[in-house]
Amino acid sequence: MRESNHFSKLLLRRACLFIFLVLAVFPGMTATAKPADPPEEEPQLDNTIQTRSAGLAWGSPDGAHSVYAWPFQVVQMGHVIQSYQDYGGAPYFHHGIDMVAPNGTEVFTRSGGQVVNIQNYGSGGLYWEVAILDAEGYVWQYHHIDKLSIPSAVHQAYQSWQADHQHGGFILPDTKLGEIVYWPVKSFNDLFHHIHLNILAAGDIYLNPLEFHTLLPDNQPPFIQKTGLLVNNAIIPGGTITESQIPTYGLYIHSGDLFLSPVYTLPPYKIAFSLDGAPWTTVWEFHTIPGGSGISQFVNDFYVVPPTCGDYGCREFYIDLGFTLQGQRPFPSQNGSHTILVQVWDYNQNSAQDSYSWTVVHPSSVVYAGLSGAYTPAGNLIQWSTTSQGDALGFNLYRSESLEGQKTKINSSLIPRLNLNTAEYSYTDDSAVLGRVYWYWLEDEDGYGPTGVYYGPQIVRTGLALSLPLVIKGEAN
Ligand SMILES: [Zn+2]
Repeated sequence: MRESNHFSKLLLRRACLFIFLVLAVFPGMTATAKPADPPEEEPQLDNTIQTRSAGLAWGSPDGAHSVYAWPFQVVQMGHVIQSYQDYGGAPYFHHGIDMVAPNGTEVFTRSGGQVVNIQNYGSGGLYWEVAILDAEGYVWQYHHIDKLSIPSAVHQAYQSWQADHQHGGFILPDTKLGEIVYWPVKSFNDLFHHIHLNILAAGDIYLNPLEFHTLLPDNQPPFIQKTGLLVNNAIIPGGTITESQIPTYGLYIHSGDLFLSPVYTLPPYKIAFSLDGAPWTTVWEFHTIPGGSGISQFVNDFYVVPPTCGDYGCREFYIDLGFTLQGQRPFPSQNGSHTILVQVWDYNQNSAQDSYSWTVVHPSSVVYAGLSGAYTPAGNLIQWSTTSQGDALGFNLYRSESLEGQKTKINSSLIPRLNLNTAEYSYTDDSAVLGRVYWYWLEDEDGYGPTGVYYGPQIVRTGLALSLPLVIKGEAN
């Protein structure tokens, strides 16, 4: 009895310590929504659209469309389509925009069109949708309209649409749809009265509603708080990746943006990077969300969770720079220092840049015994030998047109290792241009990728049967 009592006290103490550690490591988790709070949108447990206005849009996701005035004077921008959301259900991309204004503000359709839905899609009075199908085939879902404020003419139009989908339900541009409902939950010290607007294209793909409205003023550029390293999708301190970490390492940015608001942090609209001087790569630009019609698809791939959080009290966005729709993008395995330039933009094209350098420790385990090269009529014949090959799987042969010049890999597939410690290799470079001088280098590759450790150079004057033996063992990038 005493023993088990002691044991349960020990368990309790361990549990408290664990909770303390979790809170200390992920302070964002302390600010999650209270379970009693109504979520900003009803919990979305799957990838389907839950209202009756689904399946009606026919406008092309990438088609040209009109641009309209705003449905009311937007006081603050509460969320954008890329915002991470987690109100205790399944996390999802916000997929619409939250336009914040006082409760009771009148909401107008600027496009006009057919009233294709009036529906309470959640529980309680907060989740009333009025949906308009515009003349260009896009469905506008206005959420959080006060039920009692929906004009009878809009109700009648909806009935008329139900009776005749082709000819019924039309309302003119600038028709009032209702008023903003009283929102009972505070977000950053203010009640979060707002309209959540989704715009759907054919296939129920969510489009960025900012593209359908005149540009709002936004002179607050986005910001990058930090760029850093991930291993196994978790943030690691420091700036070094060891050999065994190479297969699962990545990079993230902690970034945010303010848009017509001093408090509601949003994720950036577009993220791009340039790695070790290579051309710029766009991680994502939020014309649509990565999942198209799937709002939870890819959300845990695009964001690093934790510490990313998104609810009434916590808005911190950590974006995985390795994100692609096909899966995680690999980062360099080559030994030595690497640098990434990152740029983020908001919708108005304000931007911010950051630069980050890290070190990959990836030693070569090959001991070379020699490297030689000679011109032959079949091409430049490169030969090398090893006395030890460690975990190497094979070799890459590079050449440059000057000692400091850009090294270009000339073998299309890895030159496989021979299963002998003292091994002799040869490779004929038949793409060498007659009359040119080339410097040749070897690099070995193991199960973690190319090591980036170069052996050489060996100079060959193409067309001359003589070559000068010149071997310097060195590391270069
Ligand atoms: Zn919303």
